[in-house]
Amino acid sequence: MKYERSSALFREAKKVIPGGVNSPVRAFNAVGGTPVFVDKAKGAYLYDVDGNRLIDYINSWGPMILGHAHEPVVNAVIEKAKNGTSFGMPTKIETEIANLAVSMVPNVDKIRFVNSGTEACMSAIRLARGYTGKDKIIKFAGCYHGHSDSFLIQAGSGAVTFGTPNSPGVTEGTAKDTLLARYNDLNNVAEVISANKDEISCIILEPVAGNMGCIPPAEGFLQGLRKLCDENKILLIFDEVMTGFRLAAGGVQELYNVNADIVTFGKVIGGGLPVGAFAARNEIMEMLAPLGPVYQAGTLSGNPLAMAAGFAMLKELNDNPQIFESINKKTEYLHEGVASALNENKITHTINRVGSMISVHFSEIPVTDFSSAANASNDTFKKFFHGMLNEGIYIAPSAFETWFICDALSYEDLDQTILACKKVATML
Ligand code: PMP
Repeated sequence: MKYERSSALFREAKKVIPGGVNSPVRAFNAVGGTPVFVDKAKGAYLYDVDGNRLIDYINSWGPMILGHAHEPVVNAVIEKAKNGTSFGMPTKIETEIANLAVSMVPNVDKIRFVNSGTEACMSAIRLARGYTGKDKIIKFAGCYHGHSDSFLIQAGSGAVTFGTPNSPGVTEGTAKDTLLARYNDLNNVAEVISANKDEISCIILEPVAGNMGCIPPAEGFLQGLRKLCDENKILLIFDEVMTGFRLAAGGVQELYNVNADIVTFGKVIGGGLPVGAFAARNEIMEMLAPLGPVYQAGTLSGNPLAMAAGFAMLKELNDNPQIFESINKKTEYLHEGVASALNENKITHTINRVGSMISVHFSEIPVTDFSSAANASNDTFKKFFHGMLNEGIYIAPSAFETWFICDALSYEDLDQTILACKKVATML
């Protein structure tokens, strides 16, 4: 496949946009080469500016559960736009999507909408600090919660891909309030808590991690965190920016039957428009301005176009719960196909999967946390990525990312992907 026009556009972009991109992972630094510039997308396919058709396993990093340019979502946006694109005043659709979201997610009474996952997580920890009166937070190495200062300490996703898990510009004062723990290691969390007795406001985590590739919570890990939080008056925050409305209608709380105190959302909840949200029980949410003293705001928050897209998307998921089963089955099929293609060629690997999230690490050991993810072979991943891209299969351009499966993918698309994988595996 040729990517000449993408190359030319990338050169132009680099003159006026740092690195040519508006979010670092897009620049392909982890895998080398030229990022693909998209012209349009429909269903499971991306169409790039060189006229290539790619089967998309990123799906805008998760939200396109129903595929690209899904008609009910697109139509909802068009209809809303005809009546104005922003007012900075309340609209009915905000309450409609809030009601729907709160009815789908366990253990929450109220939800506030923001414009990105970063904002949602940043606001959630402020709320936890305000509610508990304590300053410190625990996060896990390799988990990514957006680019706000408190989270850029051993972060996953692009932050590791670019070799800067701790970003310059984050002050020591901020960094000292973020305590780090090892994912899937309850003893380590207990140690961190006891070394900082009565100082920790919240533990935030991706309850199924997606930013060091896909890493499931070990058996009992989430339950253990719940117990530690209850014993120490710490709030448990599930960052469900990737998992919410994808792994189940009620997200990880429903899937693993563990309650969080605050849940954050992004991407999926906006049907692909820039939306984030955080939700909790009344007693916590009522701390938030204008009801309470914890300030949080946004001119474009609850934007009518974004709310209309999100509502159309959530409604379809809520009305058709078989969609979750369908994407899970497709992902399982892909899992088996990719595993056998790699096994046939004796390529050492680990595939982690939860529902419709899946990733391949070229690792000899199970990948259960950040250090085992970082231990996998990046050279093999690079070859795999470019091999697949050459076959028209677009997977995440970094081993520290997850693939997301959408329901628009047909079994023929999956077979084509597995076939490509067989071919690429002979070249690894
Ligand atoms: N939390 C998680 C789990 C994420 O995956 C991301 C983004 N990939 C974020 C937060 C930040 O969201 P955004 O990029 O919309 O700010």
